[in-house]
Amino acid sequence: MPAAKRTRRKRTYEFWTDQIAGKVTDRKKFLYTDSRMPKFKEFVVKTSASVSGVLHMGRLSDTIRGEAVTRSLLDAGKRAKLIWVAEDMDPMRKIPEGVPASYAEHIGAPVTDIPDPWGCHRSYAEHHLSKYFETLDEFVALPMKKFSMREEYKRGKFNPYIKKLMKAVVELVEIQNKYRRSPLDANAWNPWTPICKNCGKIITTRVTGFDGRKVKYKCADYAFEKFTAKGCGHEGENDPLKGEGKLMWKAEWAAQWARWKVAAEGAGKEYQVPGSAFWVNAEMCERVLGFPAPVPIFYEHLIINGQKMSASVGNVVYPADWLKRAPAELLRLLFLKDPMRARDFSWQMLPQLFDELDDMERVYYGRKKLRDERDAYNARRLFEIVSLKKPARTYTEKVAFSTIAELAKTAPQKGRTGFVAKKVKELGLAKSITPQLKKNIEERIAFASAAAAGKPAAASKQRLSDPEKEIVRKLIDAIERESDAEKLQSEIFTIAKSGGMRLPEFFKMVYQILFGADRGPRLGQYIVDAGRKEIVGKMKAALEN
Ligand SMILES: [Zn+2]
Ligand SMILES: [Zn+2]
Repeated sequence: MPAAKRTRRKRTYEFWTDQIAGKVTDRKKFLYTDSRMPKFKEFVVKTSASVSGVLHMGRLSDTIRGEAVTRSLLDAGKRAKLIWVAEDMDPMRKIPEGVPASYAEHIGAPVTDIPDPWGCHRSYAEHHLSKYFETLDEFVALPMKKFSMREEYKRGKFNPYIKKLMKAVVELVEIQNKYRRSPLDANAWNPWTPICKNCGKIITTRVTGFDGRKVKYKCADYAFEKFTAKGCGHEGENDPLKGEGKLMWKAEWAAQWARWKVAAEGAGKEYQVPGSAFWVNAEMCERVLGFPAPVPIFYEHLIINGQKMSASVGNVVYPADWLKRAPAELLRLLFLKDPMRARDFSWQMLPQLFDELDDMERVYYGRKKLRDERDAYNARRLFEIVSLKKPARTYTEKVAFSTIAELAKTAPQKGRTGFVAKKVKELGLAKSITPQLKKNIEERIAFASAAAAGKPAAASKQRLSDPEKEIVRKLIDAIERESDAEKLQSEIFTIAKSGGMRLPEFFKMVYQILFGADRGPRLGQYIVDAGRKEIVGKMKAALEN
Protein backbone atom coordinates (compact mmCIF):
# COMPACT_ATOMS: atom_id res chain seq x y z
CA MET A 1 0.00 0.00 0.00
CA PRO A 2 1.42 3.38 -0.93
CA ALA A 3 0.29 5.27 2.16
CA ALA A 4 2.85 3.95 4.53
CA LYS A 5 2.42 3.39 8.23
CA ARG A 6 2.79 6.58 10.09
CA THR A 7 5.89 6.71 12.15
CA ARG A 8 5.73 10.15 13.68
CA ARG A 9 8.85 12.24 14.14
CA LYS A 10 10.55 10.55 11.21
CA ARG A 11 8.33 12.38 8.77
CA THR A 12 9.03 15.88 7.66
CA TYR A 13 5.35 16.49 7.09
CA GLU A 14 2.21 15.21 8.68
CA PHE A 15 -1.46 15.28 7.89
CA TRP A 16 -3.31 17.68 10.22
CA THR A 17 -5.23 15.00 12.14
CA ASP A 18 -1.96 13.15 12.76
CA GLN A 19 -0.45 16.41 14.02
CA ILE A 20 -3.25 16.81 16.54
CA ALA A 21 -2.93 13.17 17.56
CA GLY A 22 0.76 13.83 18.11
CA LYS A 23 -0.04 16.81 20.30
CA VAL A 24 -2.40 14.65 22.34
CA THR A 25 0.15 11.93 22.99
CA ASP A 26 3.20 14.15 23.44
CA ARG A 27 1.78 16.36 26.19
CA LYS A 28 4.00 16.41 29.26
CA LYS A 29 2.44 19.04 31.48
CA PHE A 30 -0.80 20.87 32.17
CA LEU A 31 -1.24 24.22 30.46
CA TYR A 32 -2.10 26.31 33.51
CA THR A 33 -0.34 24.49 36.35
CA ASP A 34 2.90 22.61 36.81
CA SER A 35 1.14 19.26 37.11
CA ARG A 36 2.54 16.42 35.10
CA MET A 37 0.35 14.71 32.56
CA PRO A 38 -1.32 11.60 33.99
CA LYS A 39 -0.90 8.32 32.16
CA PHE A 40 -3.82 7.79 29.80
CA LYS A 41 -4.83 4.17 29.30
CA GLU A 42 -6.97 5.32 26.44
CA PHE A 43 -7.48 8.62 24.67
CA VAL A 44 -11.06 9.83 24.49
CA VAL A 45 -12.16 12.25 21.80
CA LYS A 46 -15.47 13.96 22.51
CA THR A 47 -17.90 15.26 19.95
CA SER A 48 -21.31 16.72 20.64
CA ALA A 49 -24.26 18.61 19.27
CA SER A 50 -26.79 20.92 20.83
CA VAL A 51 -30.29 19.64 20.39
CA SER A 52 -31.97 23.01 20.81
CA GLY A 53 -31.29 23.88 17.18
CA VAL A 54 -31.76 21.94 13.98
CA LEU A 55 -29.52 18.89 13.61
CA HIS A 56 -28.42 19.69 10.07
CA MET A 57 -25.42 18.36 8.18
CA GLY A 58 -23.18 21.17 9.47
CA ARG A 59 -23.39 19.51 12.90
CA LEU A 60 -21.55 16.54 11.44
CA SER A 61 -18.40 18.58 11.00
CA ASP A 62 -17.49 18.32 14.68
CA THR A 63 -18.11 14.58 14.67
CA ILE A 64 -16.30 13.82 11.42
CA ARG A 65 -13.26 15.82 12.50
CA GLY A 66 -13.22 14.27 15.96
CA GLU A 67 -13.49 10.82 14.43
CA ALA A 68 -10.59 11.54 12.08
CA VAL A 69 -8.35 12.55 15.01
CA THR A 70 -9.40 9.38 16.85
CA ARG A 71 -8.41 7.36 13.81
CA SER A 72 -5.05 9.09 13.73
CA LEU A 73 -4.52 8.10 17.36
CA LEU A 74 -5.45 4.50 16.56
CA ASP A 75 -3.21 4.50 13.48
CA ALA A 76 -0.36 5.68 15.70
CA GLY A 77 -0.86 2.52 17.73
CA LYS A 78 -2.64 4.14 20.70
CA ARG A 79 -5.86 3.09 22.35
CA ALA A 80 -8.50 5.65 21.56
CA LYS A 81 -12.27 6.05 21.35
CA LEU A 82 -14.83 8.53 20.22
CA ILE A 83 -17.86 9.54 22.27
CA TRP A 84 -20.89 11.59 21.23
CA VAL A 85 -22.77 13.78 23.69
CA ALA A 86 -26.21 15.32 23.22
CA GLU A 87 -26.24 18.80 24.76
CA ASP A 88 -29.91 18.31 25.43
CA MET A 89 -30.37 20.45 28.53
CA ASP A 90 -30.29 23.58 26.44
CA PRO A 91 -33.51 25.53 26.62
CA MET A 92 -35.82 25.99 23.67
CA ARG A 93 -35.16 29.56 22.52
CA LYS A 94 -37.93 30.19 20.03
CA ILE A 95 -40.82 28.39 18.42
CA PRO A 96 -39.13 26.16 15.87
CA GLU A 97 -40.32 26.00 12.24
CA GLY A 98 -43.37 23.80 11.89
CA VAL A 99 -44.22 23.78 15.59
CA PRO A 100 -47.57 25.16 16.83
CA ALA A 101 -47.62 28.65 18.34
CA SER A 102 -48.90 27.16 21.59
CA TYR A 103 -45.34 25.96 22.17
CA ALA A 104 -44.49 29.49 23.29
CA GLU A 105 -45.34 28.23 26.79
CA HIS A 106 -42.35 25.85 26.61
CA ILE A 107 -39.78 28.46 25.68
CA GLY A 108 -37.04 28.32 28.28
CA ALA A 109 -37.55 24.66 29.24
CA PRO A 110 -34.89 22.02 28.47
CA VAL A 111 -35.62 20.42 25.10
CA THR A 112 -35.68 16.99 26.74
CA ASP A 113 -38.65 18.07 28.87
CA ILE A 114 -40.82 19.44 26.07
CA PRO A 115 -43.48 17.15 24.55
CA ASP A 116 -42.98 15.94 20.97
CA PRO A 117 -45.12 18.25 18.79
CA TRP A 118 -45.54 15.38 16.31
CA GLY A 119 -46.58 12.97 19.05
CA CYS A 120 -44.33 10.10 17.98
CA HIS A 121 -41.60 10.31 20.64
CA ARG A 122 -41.29 10.95 24.33
CA SER A 123 -39.95 14.46 23.87
CA TYR A 124 -39.03 17.18 21.40
CA ALA A 125 -35.35 16.31 21.84
CA GLU A 126 -35.92 12.62 21.25
CA HIS A 127 -37.88 13.33 18.10
CA HIS A 128 -34.94 15.19 16.55
CA LEU A 129 -32.27 12.90 17.92
CA SER A 130 -33.92 9.77 16.59
CA LYS A 131 -33.96 11.25 13.11
CA TYR A 132 -30.34 12.34 13.45
CA PHE A 133 -29.24 8.97 14.78
CA GLU A 134 -30.73 7.20 11.77
CA THR A 135 -27.84 8.46 9.68
CA LEU A 136 -25.19 9.85 12.06
CA ASP A 137 -23.19 6.64 12.23
CA GLU A 138 -23.07 6.36 8.47
CA PHE A 139 -20.64 9.28 8.37
CA VAL A 140 -18.04 7.74 10.66
CA ALA A 141 -16.12 4.50 10.60
CA LEU A 142 -15.67 4.19 14.36
CA PRO A 143 -18.33 3.16 16.85
CA MET A 144 -19.50 6.04 19.06
CA LYS A 145 -21.01 5.64 22.48
CA LYS A 146 -23.76 8.23 22.85
CA PHE A 147 -24.62 10.13 26.01
CA SER A 148 -27.39 12.52 27.00
CA MET A 149 -26.54 15.34 29.40
CA ARG A 150 -30.05 15.23 30.87
CA GLU A 151 -29.57 11.55 31.72
CA GLU A 152 -26.04 12.09 32.98
CA TYR A 153 -27.21 14.68 35.51
CA LYS A 154 -30.20 12.59 36.53
CA ARG A 155 -28.00 9.56 37.11
CA GLY A 156 -25.58 11.58 39.23
CA LYS A 157 -22.65 11.02 36.90
CA PHE A 158 -21.58 14.63 37.28
CA ASN A 159 -21.92 14.81 41.05
CA PRO A 160 -18.21 14.44 41.89
CA TYR A 161 -17.39 17.37 39.61
CA ILE A 162 -20.36 19.46 40.69
CA LYS A 163 -19.18 19.11 44.30
CA LYS A 164 -15.68 20.33 43.46
CA LEU A 165 -16.95 23.18 41.32
CA MET A 166 -19.49 24.36 43.92
CA LYS A 167 -16.71 24.54 46.48
CA ALA A 168 -14.57 26.66 44.18
CA VAL A 169 -16.96 29.46 43.25
CA VAL A 170 -14.39 32.14 44.16
CA GLU A 171 -11.74 30.55 41.97
CA LEU A 172 -14.18 30.02 39.09
CA VAL A 173 -15.08 33.69 39.23
CA GLU A 174 -11.42 34.74 39.36
CA ILE A 175 -10.64 32.72 36.26
CA GLN A 176 -13.52 34.31 34.36
CA ASN A 177 -12.76 37.82 35.56
CA LYS A 178 -9.29 37.74 34.01
CA TYR A 179 -11.02 38.18 30.67
CA ARG A 180 -14.06 40.25 31.63
CA ARG A 181 -14.53 44.01 31.39
CA SER A 182 -17.33 43.91 33.93
CA PRO A 183 -16.21 41.52 36.65
CA LEU A 184 -18.52 38.90 38.11
CA ASP A 185 -19.29 39.00 41.82
CA ALA A 186 -18.39 35.76 43.58
CA ASN A 187 -21.25 36.38 45.99
CA ALA A 188 -23.78 36.55 43.19
CA TRP A 189 -22.43 34.12 40.58
CA ASN A 190 -23.02 30.41 40.85
CA PRO A 191 -22.09 27.62 38.40
CA TRP A 192 -25.40 25.83 38.97
CA THR A 193 -28.62 26.50 37.03
CA PRO A 194 -31.62 24.79 38.62
CA ILE A 195 -34.75 23.68 36.82
CA CYS A 196 -37.78 25.42 38.33
CA LYS A 197 -39.68 22.90 40.37
CA ASN A 198 -42.95 24.59 39.62
CA CYS A 199 -42.84 25.25 35.85
CA GLY A 200 -39.97 23.07 34.64
CA LYS A 201 -38.06 25.85 32.93
CA ILE A 202 -34.32 26.24 33.20
CA ILE A 203 -33.56 29.62 31.66
CA THR A 204 -35.85 31.51 34.03
CA THR A 205 -34.30 30.51 37.34
CA ARG A 206 -32.08 33.10 39.04
CA VAL A 207 -29.91 31.84 41.82
CA THR A 208 -30.45 34.13 44.82
CA GLY A 209 -28.46 32.32 47.47
CA PHE A 210 -26.11 29.44 48.15
CA ASP A 211 -25.45 27.81 51.52
CA GLY A 212 -22.58 25.63 50.37
CA ARG A 213 -24.91 22.81 49.49
CA LYS A 214 -28.22 23.98 48.06
CA VAL A 215 -29.04 26.98 45.93
CA LYS A 216 -32.04 29.27 46.42
CA TYR A 217 -33.66 30.55 43.27
CA LYS A 218 -36.47 32.67 41.92
CA CYS A 219 -38.23 31.98 38.61
CA ALA A 220 -38.48 35.19 36.55
CA ASP A 221 -38.95 36.25 32.91
CA TYR A 222 -35.96 35.81 30.62
CA ALA A 223 -35.80 37.61 27.28
CA PHE A 224 -34.28 35.84 24.30
CA GLU A 225 -33.71 37.70 21.05
CA LYS A 226 -37.25 37.30 19.77
CA PHE A 227 -39.18 35.52 22.47
CA THR A 228 -39.49 35.83 26.20
CA ALA A 229 -39.43 32.81 28.43
CA LYS A 230 -42.12 33.51 31.02
CA GLY A 231 -41.06 32.93 34.59
CA CYS A 232 -43.66 31.59 37.04
CA GLY A 233 -42.51 33.59 40.07
CA HIS A 234 -41.78 30.47 42.10
CA GLU A 235 -39.14 30.74 44.81
CA GLY A 236 -37.49 27.54 45.90
CA GLU A 237 -34.43 25.52 46.77
CA ASN A 238 -32.50 23.09 44.60
CA ASP A 239 -29.91 20.49 45.50
CA PRO A 240 -27.41 20.27 42.60
CA LEU A 241 -26.65 16.65 43.46
CA LYS A 242 -30.24 15.64 42.69
CA GLY A 243 -29.87 16.15 38.96
CA GLU A 244 -32.62 18.72 38.36
CA GLY A 245 -30.56 21.38 36.65
CA LYS A 246 -27.26 21.84 34.93
CA LEU A 247 -23.91 23.54 35.25
CA MET A 248 -23.34 26.81 33.45
CA TRP A 249 -21.49 26.29 30.17
CA LYS A 250 -18.40 27.88 31.72
CA ALA A 251 -17.87 25.07 34.23
CA GLU A 252 -19.89 22.37 32.48
CA TRP A 253 -17.46 21.86 29.61
CA ALA A 254 -14.67 21.45 32.17
CA ALA A 255 -16.77 18.91 34.07
CA GLN A 256 -17.44 16.98 30.87
CA TRP A 257 -13.73 16.75 30.13
CA ALA A 258 -12.98 15.46 33.60
CA ARG A 259 -15.97 13.09 33.65
CA TRP A 260 -15.07 11.36 30.36
CA LYS A 261 -11.28 11.91 30.57
CA VAL A 262 -11.39 13.78 27.27
CA ALA A 263 -8.07 14.21 25.47
CA ALA A 264 -9.27 16.13 22.41
CA GLU A 265 -12.41 17.91 21.32
CA GLY A 266 -13.50 19.99 18.36
CA ALA A 267 -14.56 23.63 18.61
CA GLY A 268 -15.40 26.36 16.13
CA LYS A 269 -12.57 28.75 15.34
CA GLU A 270 -14.28 31.51 17.36
CA TYR A 271 -13.10 29.62 20.45
CA GLN A 272 -9.44 30.13 19.54
CA VAL A 273 -9.27 33.57 21.15
CA PRO A 274 -8.02 33.88 24.75
CA GLY A 275 -10.90 34.17 27.19
CA SER A 276 -13.25 32.04 25.07
CA ALA A 277 -15.33 29.38 26.79
CA PHE A 278 -12.82 26.79 25.64
CA TRP A 279 -9.86 28.33 27.44
CA VAL A 280 -11.85 29.45 30.48
CA ASN A 281 -13.05 25.86 30.88
CA ALA A 282 -9.53 24.60 30.21
CA GLU A 283 -8.24 26.62 33.14
CA MET A 284 -11.17 25.62 35.38
CA CYS A 285 -10.62 21.99 34.45
CA GLU A 286 -6.95 22.04 35.38
CA ARG A 287 -7.04 24.27 38.47
CA VAL A 288 -10.29 23.13 40.03
CA LEU A 289 -10.85 19.60 38.74
CA GLY A 290 -7.20 18.60 38.45
CA PHE A 291 -7.65 17.24 34.95
CA PRO A 292 -5.59 18.41 31.95
CA ALA A 293 -7.31 20.53 29.32
CA PRO A 294 -7.89 18.58 26.12
CA VAL A 295 -6.22 19.44 22.84
CA PRO A 296 -8.64 21.53 20.77
CA ILE A 297 -9.52 20.64 17.19
CA PHE A 298 -10.38 24.09 15.86
CA TYR A 299 -12.24 24.49 12.62
CA GLU A 300 -14.15 26.84 10.37
CA HIS A 301 -17.88 26.45 9.96
CA LEU A 302 -19.84 25.30 6.99
CA ILE A 303 -21.98 27.76 5.14
CA ILE A 304 -24.31 27.03 2.30
CA ASN A 305 -24.48 29.30 -0.73
CA GLY A 306 -22.83 32.01 1.33
CA GLN A 307 -25.29 31.78 4.21
CA LYS A 308 -25.45 30.08 7.56
CA MET A 309 -27.68 27.05 7.48
CA SER A 310 -30.89 27.76 9.32
CA ALA A 311 -34.48 26.68 9.39
CA SER A 312 -35.72 30.24 9.02
CA VAL A 313 -33.65 30.79 5.87
CA GLY A 314 -34.96 27.45 4.61
CA ASN A 315 -31.57 26.17 3.43
CA VAL A 316 -31.20 23.32 5.88
CA VAL A 317 -29.63 20.13 4.57
CA TYR A 318 -30.12 17.08 6.78
CA PRO A 319 -27.60 14.25 6.86
CA ALA A 320 -30.23 12.00 5.25
CA ASP A 321 -30.58 14.44 2.34
CA TRP A 322 -26.86 14.27 1.79
CA LEU A 323 -26.82 10.49 1.61
CA LYS A 324 -29.41 10.54 -1.14
CA ARG A 325 -27.26 12.73 -3.32
CA ALA A 326 -23.70 11.77 -2.49
CA PRO A 327 -21.70 9.22 -0.53
CA ALA A 328 -20.78 10.05 3.06
CA GLU A 329 -17.14 10.17 2.01
CA LEU A 330 -17.73 13.33 0.01
CA LEU A 331 -18.97 15.18 3.07
CA ARG A 332 -15.97 13.84 4.95
CA LEU A 333 -13.77 15.23 2.21
CA LEU A 334 -15.43 18.62 2.53
CA PHE A 335 -14.80 18.71 6.28
CA LEU A 336 -11.41 17.01 6.44
CA LYS A 337 -9.56 18.60 3.60
CA ASP A 338 -8.53 21.76 5.33
CA PRO A 339 -10.29 22.42 8.63
CA MET A 340 -9.40 26.10 8.84
CA ARG A 341 -10.75 27.05 5.46
CA ALA A 342 -14.33 28.29 5.41
CA ARG A 343 -16.52 25.85 3.55
CA ASP A 344 -19.15 27.41 1.38
CA PHE A 345 -21.15 24.55 0.04
CA SER A 346 -23.63 24.43 -2.77
CA TRP A 347 -25.02 21.36 -4.46
CA GLN A 348 -23.44 22.55 -7.69
CA MET A 349 -20.09 21.69 -6.18
CA LEU A 350 -20.88 17.99 -6.05
CA PRO A 351 -19.36 17.03 -9.42
CA GLN A 352 -16.19 18.85 -8.41
CA LEU A 353 -16.06 17.01 -5.09
CA PHE A 354 -16.52 13.68 -6.84
CA ASP A 355 -13.64 14.56 -9.17
CA GLU A 356 -11.48 15.60 -6.26
CA LEU A 357 -12.03 12.31 -4.48
CA ASP A 358 -11.40 10.35 -7.69
CA ASP A 359 -8.16 12.23 -8.15
CA MET A 360 -7.02 11.57 -4.59
CA GLU A 361 -7.76 7.92 -5.14
CA ARG A 362 -5.58 7.94 -8.27
CA VAL A 363 -2.75 9.44 -6.26
CA TYR A 364 -3.29 6.88 -3.49
CA TYR A 365 -2.96 3.98 -5.93
CA GLY A 366 -0.06 5.57 -7.75
CA ARG A 367 -2.11 6.16 -10.91
CA LYS A 368 -1.49 9.84 -10.78
CA LYS A 369 1.74 11.53 -9.81
CA LEU A 370 1.90 14.85 -8.02
CA ARG A 371 5.06 16.88 -8.42
CA ASP A 372 5.19 17.95 -4.80
CA GLU A 373 5.89 15.05 -2.45
CA ARG A 374 4.13 16.79 0.43
CA ASP A 375 0.97 17.22 -1.65
CA ALA A 376 1.15 13.58 -2.65
CA TYR A 377 1.57 12.46 0.94
CA ASN A 378 -1.34 14.61 2.08
CA ALA A 379 -3.55 13.36 -0.74
CA ARG A 380 -2.84 9.73 0.17
CA ARG A 381 -3.40 10.25 3.85
CA LEU A 382 -6.52 12.33 3.26
CA PHE A 383 -7.87 9.57 1.05
CA GLU A 384 -7.30 7.00 3.81
CA ILE A 385 -8.92 9.17 6.44
CA VAL A 386 -11.85 10.15 4.23
CA SER A 387 -12.54 6.51 3.32
CA LEU A 388 -15.00 4.76 5.60
CA LYS A 389 -13.69 1.35 4.68
CA LYS A 390 -10.14 0.22 4.28
CA PRO A 391 -9.25 1.08 0.67
CA ALA A 392 -9.58 -1.94 -1.63
CA ARG A 393 -6.46 -3.81 -2.58
CA THR A 394 -6.99 -3.22 -6.26
CA TYR A 395 -7.83 0.02 -7.92
CA THR A 396 -10.90 0.58 -10.05
CA GLU A 397 -10.67 3.52 -12.42
CA LYS A 398 -13.81 5.63 -12.05
CA VAL A 399 -15.73 7.54 -14.67
CA ALA A 400 -16.35 11.17 -13.70
CA PHE A 401 -19.62 11.74 -11.88
CA SER A 402 -20.61 14.54 -14.25
CA THR A 403 -20.09 12.23 -17.22
CA ILE A 404 -22.22 9.51 -15.67
CA ALA A 405 -24.86 12.10 -14.84
CA GLU A 406 -24.87 13.32 -18.43
CA LEU A 407 -25.06 9.79 -19.86
CA ALA A 408 -27.81 8.85 -17.43
CA LYS A 409 -29.98 11.68 -18.74
CA THR A 410 -30.28 9.98 -22.10
CA ALA A 411 -30.72 6.49 -20.64
CA PRO A 412 -34.09 4.72 -20.65
CA GLN A 413 -35.68 4.36 -17.19
CA LYS A 414 -35.28 0.59 -17.29
CA GLY A 415 -31.77 -0.84 -17.46
CA ARG A 416 -30.08 2.49 -16.94
CA THR A 417 -26.90 1.03 -15.48
CA GLY A 418 -26.47 -1.33 -18.41
CA PHE A 419 -27.12 1.48 -20.87
CA VAL A 420 -24.65 3.86 -19.24
CA ALA A 421 -22.04 1.12 -18.84
CA LYS A 422 -22.33 0.34 -22.54
CA LYS A 423 -21.88 4.03 -23.42
CA VAL A 424 -18.86 4.22 -21.15
CA LYS A 425 -17.33 1.33 -23.04
CA GLU A 426 -18.25 2.76 -26.45
CA LEU A 427 -16.76 6.12 -25.61
CA GLY A 428 -13.58 4.42 -24.50
CA LEU A 429 -13.86 5.79 -20.95
CA ALA A 430 -13.04 2.40 -19.47
CA LYS A 431 -11.22 -0.56 -20.87
CA SER A 432 -13.70 -3.00 -19.46
CA ILE A 433 -16.74 -2.83 -17.25
CA THR A 434 -15.67 -4.73 -14.15
CA PRO A 435 -18.27 -5.59 -11.50
CA GLN A 436 -16.72 -2.90 -9.26
CA LEU A 437 -16.98 -0.26 -11.95
CA LYS A 438 -20.53 -1.31 -12.71
CA LYS A 439 -21.43 -0.94 -9.06
CA ASN A 440 -19.82 2.49 -8.97
CA ILE A 441 -21.70 3.53 -12.12
CA GLU A 442 -24.94 2.34 -10.56
CA GLU A 443 -24.30 4.37 -7.39
CA ARG A 444 -23.43 7.47 -9.34
CA ILE A 445 -26.56 7.16 -11.48
CA ALA A 446 -28.63 6.93 -8.30
CA PHE A 447 -26.97 10.03 -6.82
CA ALA A 448 -27.34 11.92 -10.09
CA SER A 449 -31.02 11.09 -10.41
CA ALA A 450 -31.68 12.10 -6.81
CA ALA A 451 -30.06 15.44 -7.63
CA ALA A 452 -32.13 15.74 -10.79
CA ALA A 453 -35.28 15.04 -8.80
CA GLY A 454 -34.26 17.70 -6.28
CA LYS A 455 -33.77 20.39 -8.86
CA PRO A 456 -34.02 19.99 -12.60
CA ALA A 457 -30.64 21.14 -13.89
CA ALA A 458 -31.85 22.74 -17.09
CA ALA A 459 -29.15 24.53 -18.99
CA SER A 460 -29.71 28.23 -18.70
CA LYS A 461 -31.31 30.27 -21.38
CA GLN A 462 -29.01 33.19 -20.71
CA ARG A 463 -28.34 35.55 -23.57
CA LEU A 464 -24.70 35.92 -24.43
CA SER A 465 -23.19 39.30 -25.27
CA ASP A 466 -21.29 39.68 -28.52
CA PRO A 467 -17.83 39.39 -26.92
CA GLU A 468 -19.05 36.30 -25.04
CA LYS A 469 -20.30 34.77 -28.27
CA GLU A 470 -16.89 35.34 -29.78
CA ILE A 471 -15.30 33.41 -26.92
CA VAL A 472 -17.79 30.57 -27.25
CA ARG A 473 -17.00 30.31 -30.98
CA LYS A 474 -13.31 29.98 -30.12
CA LEU A 475 -14.16 27.28 -27.61
CA ILE A 476 -16.20 25.35 -30.15
CA ASP A 477 -13.29 25.53 -32.54
CA ALA A 478 -10.86 24.24 -29.91
CA ILE A 479 -13.15 21.41 -28.81
CA GLU A 480 -13.66 20.25 -32.39
CA ARG A 481 -9.89 20.22 -32.99
CA GLU A 482 -8.51 18.87 -29.74
CA SER A 483 -9.28 15.36 -28.44
CA ASP A 484 -6.66 15.21 -25.69
CA ALA A 485 -8.15 16.26 -22.33
CA GLU A 486 -5.03 17.94 -20.94
CA LYS A 487 -4.25 19.84 -24.13
CA LEU A 488 -7.84 20.92 -24.40
CA GLN A 489 -7.74 22.11 -20.80
CA SER A 490 -4.76 24.35 -21.51
CA GLU A 491 -6.35 25.64 -24.72
CA ILE A 492 -9.44 26.55 -22.76
CA PHE A 493 -7.26 28.52 -20.37
CA THR A 494 -5.57 30.33 -23.22
CA ILE A 495 -8.94 31.27 -24.68
CA ALA A 496 -10.18 32.31 -21.25
CA LYS A 497 -7.24 34.63 -20.70
CA SER A 498 -7.29 36.14 -24.17
CA GLY A 499 -10.98 36.92 -24.19
CA GLY A 500 -10.94 39.93 -21.89
CA MET A 501 -13.21 38.26 -19.32
CA ARG A 502 -12.26 37.68 -15.72
CA LEU A 503 -11.52 33.98 -15.20
CA PRO A 504 -14.33 33.33 -12.68
CA GLU A 505 -16.79 35.03 -15.04
CA PHE A 506 -15.53 32.97 -17.94
CA PHE A 507 -15.99 29.66 -16.13
CA LYS A 508 -19.35 30.72 -14.79
CA MET A 509 -20.49 31.43 -18.33
CA VAL A 510 -19.30 28.05 -19.60
CA TYR A 511 -20.85 26.14 -16.69
CA GLN A 512 -24.08 28.04 -17.20
CA ILE A 513 -24.14 26.93 -20.81
CA LEU A 514 -23.35 23.31 -19.97
CA PHE A 515 -25.23 22.76 -16.71
CA GLY A 516 -27.20 25.86 -15.90
CA ALA A 517 -24.94 26.13 -12.85
CA ASP A 518 -22.19 28.44 -11.65
CA ARG A 519 -19.73 25.71 -10.94
CA GLY A 520 -18.71 22.46 -12.48
CA PRO A 521 -15.96 19.95 -13.13
CA ARG A 522 -12.57 20.46 -14.70
CA LEU A 523 -13.53 21.18 -18.28
CA GLY A 524 -10.91 19.44 -20.44
CA GLN A 525 -11.53 16.00 -19.01
CA TYR A 526 -15.24 16.54 -18.71
CA ILE A 527 -15.67 17.56 -22.34
CA VAL A 528 -13.70 14.58 -23.59
CA ASP A 529 -15.60 12.23 -21.27
CA ALA A 530 -19.02 13.60 -22.04
CA GLY A 531 -18.44 13.54 -25.78
CA ARG A 532 -17.14 16.54 -27.65
CA LYS A 533 -19.95 16.50 -30.17
CA GLU A 534 -22.58 16.84 -27.51
CA ILE A 535 -20.77 19.72 -25.81
CA VAL A 536 -20.33 21.52 -29.10
CA GLY A 537 -24.07 21.06 -29.66
CA LYS A 538 -24.86 22.74 -26.36
CA MET A 539 -22.53 25.62 -27.13
CA LYS A 540 -24.00 26.15 -30.56
CA ALA A 541 -27.46 26.20 -29.02
CA ALA A 542 -26.28 28.86 -26.57
CA LEU A 543 -25.09 31.01 -29.47
CA GLU A 544 -28.59 31.01 -30.87
CA ASN A 545 -30.33 32.15 -27.70
ZN1 LIG B 1 -41.58 12.33 17.19
ZN1 LIG C 1 -40.95 28.52 37.25
